[in-house]
Parts: sequence; structure tokens; C-alpha cells
Amino acid sequence: MASHLNICILLTGPLVRHVTIPIISMQQMPRAPRMVATALLAVAMGIGCVLLPGCQTTPKTTFSTDKPSRHSVTSKHFVIQSDVRIEPDDVIVKTLEDLHAQLVSTLKLPEQRDPVTVYLFSDEASYRYYMHATWRDLPPRRAYFVGSTRELAVYSFRSPQVMQDLRHEFTHGILHATLQTVPLWLDEGLAEYFEVNPETPGLANPEHLAELNRARQDRWNPNLVRLEMLTDFRDLTQQDYAESWAWVHFLLNGPDERKDVLLKYLETLRKTKTPPALRSTLEASVPSYVADLQTHLEQLYASYATASHPSVPMAALR
Ligand SMILES: [Zn+2]
Repeated sequence: MASHLNICILLTGPLVRHVTIPIISMQQMPRAPRMVATALLAVAMGIGCVLLPGCQTTPKTTFSTDKPSRHSVTSKHFVIQSDVRIEPDDVIVKTLEDLHAQLVSTLKLPEQRDPVTVYLFSDEASYRYYMHATWRDLPPRRAYFVGSTRELAVYSFRSPQVMQDLRHEFTHGILHATLQTVPLWLDEGLAEYFEVNPETPGLANPEHLAELNRARQDRWNPNLVRLEMLTDFRDLTQQDYAESWAWVHFLLNGPDERKDVLLKYLETLRKTKTPPALRSTLEASVPSYVADLQTHLEQLYASYATASHPSVPMAALR
């Protein structure tokens, strides 16, 4: 029976890609014969000694088509599996626990149906080898969320951006573990919103602000109707990700009536896999919602253009 595989891809830069591709089943995804693939990769990379018989070197890179499994930490809401030891008080564990609490508290999510498994590779090469061997048709990216009827899985590796990556992908995981469905724009908008370190002033994403400010100068106008019609990841642009983030930021930061619209919509998503569009209830509750979003963004542009915030691309905001 055909199913869908939800895959969220983090680019090597700050932007994120979320894709949904039809598959027959997880089991039918191609997998490389391990030793052949290992040997081929070793040759391709000019490495003479990988994990082949007789090899005396023990590199950190695993070059394995198996998921990390040597060490694990289990919490009530997720499992982290890693090839290197991970302690229960590791900052990653704390970050995901805090994020789970933040998601449940902010979005009033129901009890989690399924656990989310985080496969954390020790290094980029091991991660990329596994992902390429398992999902051959996908481009190399920094992190993935893969949701299937069998498992809700996050894949990533230890990197300077691992916290941001995990916050983004884990948000997808929790949404899909609690709701019947999540429209593409909202799935990405929420993941983009919650990937931001909660200590960031205003929870603003400077890259998206810069993107939308550039678009504004090209006469872009927000269009939730168009965004809600998008169902194929291949149709999403960087600007669509930025606009999805902007709508979520707008709904969660402002008068209660705006947040109530989102919370009621999330309640609907608990019960149906074919939800109505959010814009109809938003328009009924906040008739000037398009102009209000533009005002909301103007205020964010202004606050970041005047604030001393070293990570914000100030030139792009002007
Ligand atoms: Zn995503």
C-alpha cells in the first residue's frame, strides 16, 4: 500500500527543506550491499584502510549502513541512539526535553502517540555515508526527519549547528507524533520557529527576516492562500519557508485572538487528516490579517535594524 515519507532536509546553510515523497514502503528503499559499498567509497575517497578485514586502523568514521545503536538514552518522549557515549545529562538530552515542554506548553499538544527516535551520528562522514546508502535519491543535507508508519526518526550528526538542526527536526517529530496531519506550510513554519534558540530576543529568525525584507523590496506580498495550496516540497522556495515562519511568528506573538486561531486549528489537526484551510478562521477572527502580518514584519525589521544583534545581516535588512 502506498504511503508517504515525510522528509525534512536541512541545507548546509541556514535554510531548511521539508519534502514529502511518495514511496511504496520503507522496506523497499534501496540499501547498498555493505562491504561492496564500503569498499567503493573507500576507493572513491582515496582511503586505503576503512573497515575491511585485516585493517589495523580504527577510524572514527563508521561507513556503515546501520543506524547508530551502540549507546542510547531514553526519555519519556524520545530515544537518542548514538555511536558515541551520550550521558543522560548531555546538553542534547536537556535541549530536547526543554523543547518538548516548550512545544506542548505553547501549542497545547495532546499526549504523544509514538516516540521519536533521534539517530545521532558521531561525525559527518558516517552520517552522509548512511544517508546516501539508504536514501540514494536524496541530496546530501545536514539533517533529516523521516516519518513513516513504522517510525518517526530524526537523523543528524554532531556539528556546530547540531542544536538548531535537532530543534528543527525534533519539532517535526513531535508534531507528527501528536497530530493526525500537519499541512506542509505549517509543518515547516513551526519547525523554523522552534529551531530558534528560545533565549533569542523575540524568537526572530534573522535569515528569514532578511529574505522577506529583500522580497518586500521586490513588491512581494504575503499570501496565505497560495501557501496553503502547496503540498509538494518541490514547489517550496526559500521565500516560502520564510513566509511560513512569518505566519507562525505572527500567530504566536501578538493578541490572544491570533494565537487562539492557531491553537484551535491544531485541535482540528488532532482529529482529521483532511483539515480545512486555516485562513478561513483567521480571516473571520482577524479580517485585516494580511495587513497585520505586514505590520508585524515591519516591527520586526525595525527592532532588528536598530538592535545591536551581531548575528543579524543588518545590510540585508536595509
Ligand atoms: Zn523541516
